Amino acid sequence: MSLPRKMLIDGEQETAAAAVEKKYDFDLFVIGAGSGGVRAARTSAGFGAKVAICELPFHPISSEVIGGVGGTCVIRGCVPKKILVYGAQFQGEFEDARNFGWELSDQIDFNWKKLLHNKTQEIVRLNGVYKRLLSNAGVTMIEGEGKIVRADRVEVTQPDGTKQQYSTKHILIATGSRATRVNIPGQELAITSDEALSLDELPKHVVVLGGGYIAVEFASIWRGMGAKVDVLYRKELPLRGFDDEMRAVVARNLEGRGINLHPGKNIVELSKTEEGIRVLMDNGDVIMADTVLFATADVKHGYPMRHLTQSLHGQTIHTPSAWACRVDLVLWWRWEGIAGSGLLGMSGHGWSTEVGAK
Ligand SMILES: Cc1cc2nc3c(=O)[nH]c(=O)nc-3n(C[C@H](O)[C@H](O)[C@H](O)COP(=O)(O)OP(=O)(O)OC[C@H]3O[C@@H](n4cnc5c(N)ncnc54)[C@H](O)[C@@H]3O)c2cc1C
Repeated sequence: MSLPRKMLIDGEQETAAAAVEKKYDFDLFVIGAGSGGVRAARTSAGFGAKVAICELPFHPISSEVIGGVGGTCVIRGCVPKKILVYGAQFQGEFEDARNFGWELSDQIDFNWKKLLHNKTQEIVRLNGVYKRLLSNAGVTMIEGEGKIVRADRVEVTQPDGTKQQYSTKHILIATGSRATRVNIPGQELAITSDEALSLDELPKHVVVLGGGYIAVEFASIWRGMGAKVDVLYRKELPLRGFDDEMRAVVARNLEGRGINLHPGKNIVELSKTEEGIRVLMDNGDVIMADTVLFATADVKHGYPMRHLTQSLHGQTIHTPSAWACRVDLVLWWRWEGIAGSGLLGMSGHGWSTEVGAK
């Protein structure tokens, strides 16, 4: 007698579950179309889920209101940076070529504006490619700023200010992070990697703060294009976290290229003078530069974190600067407690594109 009864209950449950499923506009709503968001949206849609993704309008320099499908890697990170790296490599190639019998004229001109124009063309193209990848996978794309208003509801503010809400079974926060300036007097005189990829003029003398891969790459780019470059970082060697032997080789190679390294140094103040930006170091030394890049690992979380804090009825979420997984756990737990449903995840920020996509 108990078996038919049990089967009936199972049947009832399925019907109830199907009814719950039906009330959502989407199975998954992804906020942020960078490496992580695009990958998650495409993969989920490939498994048959009804997926939406929202992303801020396109612009090469990110802010609270602009971004673009493709995210940091495609628009303001890996791709444009690699284009500049390739561009900078040619100077050494020309020198080598002369030694291998190539007759090059003494005056070889470099056109920074042309390189930047071509770089922008390429990221516009890739932005289109990413949009096509999403639409071909059946993902609904919505332009605007996403904000979680309930554990199963996302509100998107479109560029014209119109607000639209969508119900969803799962939410993925894939908003990445943004580069920030170090909090010192005169910080507004410095640029971050966002602006470094879109400078109107090629700098003549740059001071780079930071010893990570972004700092090292930009130092090499600008040096390769003929600028004088000083790099300051806190440790003895650049590239903290990488193999020590390799770090020493990189340091030697950077110096070999004519980059001035300042290990164990920091910037304490920037000020504007008629000769350029006065960079005051913590040992009292001063360097004059026309461009200062903050390439520190300090990252600012995407603004949905701020919205989330509001949505959580005043509960504060403490977000460790880099550990996305820990953030994920905190959010998951908090939301379960409040709404009893909704899956929140977070893509990798400040790490590599691969981490983001995972
Ligand atoms: C200069 C630079 C060079 C780099 N070079 C490399 C490299 O060579 N190799 C490598 O592997 N990695 C590199 N990275 C790191 C890589 O870019 C990131 O790890 C990766 O982009 C992270 O992906 P993500 O999806 O987590 O975030 P993102 O790519 O930042 O995507 C997040 C998206 O969310 C959007 N967004 C934010 N808030 C909202 C909102 N409320 N509503 C809607 N959309 C929102 C943003 O506009 C953004 O497009 C580089 C990074 C930088 C800055």
